[in-house]
Amino acid sequence: MGVKLITESIRSVGVWVGLPINVWIVAEQDGITLVDTGMSFMSKGIIKAIQRMDAGPLKRILLTHGHADHVGGLQNILRVYDVPVYMHAAEIPYAEGQLAYPDKDKAHVHVEKGILQPLPLASGKNKELDVHGSLIPYWTPGHSPGHVVYFHRGENALLAGDLFNGKRGKLIPPRFTPDPELAMRSAFGIVRELDPERIEVCHGSTVYRPAGKMDDLEAEIRQARELEAKLKARKEAKAKAKRSKA
Ligand SMILES: [Zn+2]
Ligand SMILES: [Zn+2]
Repeated sequence: MGVKLITESIRSVGVWVGLPINVWIVAEQDGITLVDTGMSFMSKGIIKAIQRMDAGPLKRILLTHGHADHVGGLQNILRVYDVPVYMHAAEIPYAEGQLAYPDKDKAHVHVEKGILQPLPLASGKNKELDVHGSLIPYWTPGHSPGHVVYFHRGENALLAGDLFNGKRGKLIPPRFTPDPELAMRSAFGIVRELDPERIEVCHGSTVYRPAGKMDDLEAEIRQARELEAKLKARKEAKAKAKRSKA
């Protein structure tokens, strides 16, 4: 398990299991905020990193979404720290197994009922989420219905969960995403709006100044999709020609 200094008050705790899995610990005035909990075998290392950070006790857990690689360590960590756990209200029924995730046939209980609390809405503002410690949550659906990213305004860092994946130091669209169009709209929108100094993703490494890379990435994705559509159309035309010959 590797602990990395991200900014003055943010550290990442990560493992490599064929792909990286990162969570983030953030020093706050009142203690520590943990963003995501990784797989269950990561919990010991996460707890150790929280203790070694020497910034007070864990105060709260914020989750980007309910996939197993983001909530797996939750139970073990809650056994040591009895703290509130927040997730977007739209994600909770999927994480608790009342609804099947849009790309799955069956619902699965990823988090037992009674643990998750909905991220509170900011008072008076239309659907905006309330600030937690130094982090501002933003709803970014697509990869999952209630996916959320957390922006550390003071240190200009975006903790982005599965908003993107990383590949050889570059951002790519996230895998296992039932609504890729919506996911990319969410991703391009929030990165351009916030223009962070750095983006941290769960499965990838740091990318600096991501807003400047969005145009190229958007063009790349569009080209790949057009090519895919062309190949599909060609295949279908061939099959049709074959059928009419027979
Ligand atoms: Zn995910
Ligand atoms: Zn993930």
